[in-house]
Amino acid sequence: MKCNFTYAHYGYILKNAKESYEFITYNNIASLNDSKKIILLRHDIDMDIFNALDMARIENELGIKSTYFIFLRSPFYNIFDADVKKIINEIIDRDHEIGLHFDETSYENLSFNSFEKTIKNEAEVLNKEFGVDVKVVSFHRPSDSTKENKIKLKNFKSTYDPIFFKQIKYLSDSRQFWKFGCPCRLIAEGERKLQILVHPVWWGIEDMPREKRLNAFVNKIKDKSFSGFTNHTDFIKTEKDIRKIREA
Ligand SMILES: [Zn+2]
Ligand SMILES: [Zn+2]
Repeated sequence: MKCNFTYAHYGYILKNAKESYEFITYNNIASLNDSKKIILLRHDIDMDIFNALDMARIENELGIKSTYFIFLRSPFYNIFDADVKKIINEIIDRDHEIGLHFDETSYENLSFNSFEKTIKNEAEVLNKEFGVDVKVVSFHRPSDSTKENKIKLKNFKSTYDPIFFKQIKYLSDSRQFWKFGCPCRLIAEGERKLQILVHPVWWGIEDMPREKRLNAFVNKIKDKSFSGFTNHTDFIKTEKDIRKIREA
């Protein structure tokens, strides 16, 4: 199958992975000093919460659990909006875990000491609103010291924690580009441990280059803002749609 950024290919990647990998989450990572094949699958939802739901449905249909990192400060969705709330609740109902996507640059002069408290404040918003217990954080636009893991959090795991990197190959679709190749290739090659970051905004039913995908996203958001989210038709929502992807 040709590699692209369609849901069909996403389903294909996961379906193949499922045959020989165990999907684990940040909260149930055991020792990695073994030869077990594992995948940590994560989504930073910077922009497209709607595509996130599509992915949550595809994964859940395949019996796969992943972690959705919700961004409280996204300019593109509002977690208090009734339709967005419904989406996040369905992601939770579909057995996925919720993490916090945290933007340290949205605070002025955030000191090392106030990091933990600030993350806790944001996590508590999610906890209260969705009845979850957020224990893991991913950083949006991380500073160098964050990347180098200089900030030690007591009560939260960070996706930059060495444990998630040292023995695990990290793949990300940042800017709609897989730097180390599409995960389907690494899976076929039998890479034993993978952390895969997928940004829902780059994906869809049809394959589209980055600019076109962003334009389509902007139009979608515009339409939804004016007509209400419930009227839109571009969700994959029926069992039939999901089956098609599963069988692609
Ligand atoms: Zn591929
Ligand atoms: Zn981000």
